[in-house]
Amino acid sequence: MIEDKNQQRTQLSDLGEFGLIEHLTKNFKIKQTSTIKSIGDDAAILDFKNKKVVVTTDLLVESVHFDLSYVPLKHLGYKAVVVNLSDVYAMNATATQVTVSIAVSNRFPLEALEDLYAGIETAANIYNIDVVGGDTTSSTTGLLISITAIGEVENDVEVYRSGANPSDLLVVTGDLGGAYMGLQVLEREKEVYKVNSNNQPDLEPYSYIIERQLKPEARKDIVKLLKDLELKPTAMIDISDGLSSEILHICKQSKVGCDIYEEKIPLDPQVISTCEEFNIDSTTVALNGGEDYELLFTISQDDYSKIKANPNFSIIGHIKEEGAGTHLVTRADTRIPIKAQGWKNFNA
Ligand code: ADP
Ligand code: MG
Repeated sequence: MIEDKNQQRTQLSDLGEFGLIEHLTKNFKIKQTSTIKSIGDDAAILDFKNKKVVVTTDLLVESVHFDLSYVPLKHLGYKAVVVNLSDVYAMNATATQVTVSIAVSNRFPLEALEDLYAGIETAANIYNIDVVGGDTTSSTTGLLISITAIGEVENDVEVYRSGANPSDLLVVTGDLGGAYMGLQVLEREKEVYKVNSNNQPDLEPYSYIIERQLKPEARKDIVKLLKDLELKPTAMIDISDGLSSEILHICKQSKVGCDIYEEKIPLDPQVISTCEEFNIDSTTVALNGGEDYELLFTISQDDYSKIKANPNFSIIGHIKEEGAGTHLVTRADTRIPIKAQGWKNFNA
């Protein structure tokens, strides 16, 4: 929970727009050779020589995508960058730059934006990317953050959602459901805090899943690992909306079907125990929870030896002909059609 630390509150109007931009971005250092001109002119200039350029953008809206009563701004800045980088990695590309646009109300003091930018800077350093621009404007109510990530990929290395073939293996990185269960814990503690603000919850038993929610990482390491293994997936997507929704994207765009096996879905022990505590089915959480930012990809069976026994990867099923449909095979050996539930931002 965010406690009132009697922080300093410098009004944004004291700095003015240019002063604010200058203040927030003065520490950013250029790391990529492709960054020719960064913040400070009318536009950034990038030079990718003979590589392909990858561009992706996300918009985050307060109260829709994040709740500042339990999300520290530093984490929010970090996560806003990371979720965009995840989309670049899902193309099997290298992320190189981001632009950051914000709309803020005068409810936010300068110190709040410093926290947000501290998170952005940390992510930029860890993922070795440059912040090369953005836009700053006022908002009458909440905070809006829009981040655009840019990346590069060599010819024929990029991977689309559309390349999966029947008999390919379906592979997922890491484990699933953690971010969703972390959110359940945070929501519960928020309610407890509303009733008694002196209550200091013990969140230690939930540390992994809370970190998955508040400070997720993008799988930059997997793009490198695939390169080292000389393995090019036939299709790939990042798991932002839950496994079922992402599998259906691959199947639809590749014009194929699939079987996935419930018993093969990777779950962390903390996800299993928290699901038991909340009386939620862990398979449902893994299928529909979302925000795990793992990668889901398909590979030819010929490449099986390259991934077997690697702890980063779980083979959860295989691709079939389109007419076979898309199914989850349960532990009880029943076949259930996969439905996309995912995050429904547009539902009340
Ligand atoms: P313009 O009037 O051309 O939109 P701005 O004054 O908005 O220019 O921006 C000046 C410079 O600062 C540009 O390089 C822009 O990309 C960068 N910039 C503006 N806002 C942000 C921000 N929130 N974060 C990072 N860079 C920013
Ligand atoms: Mg501007």
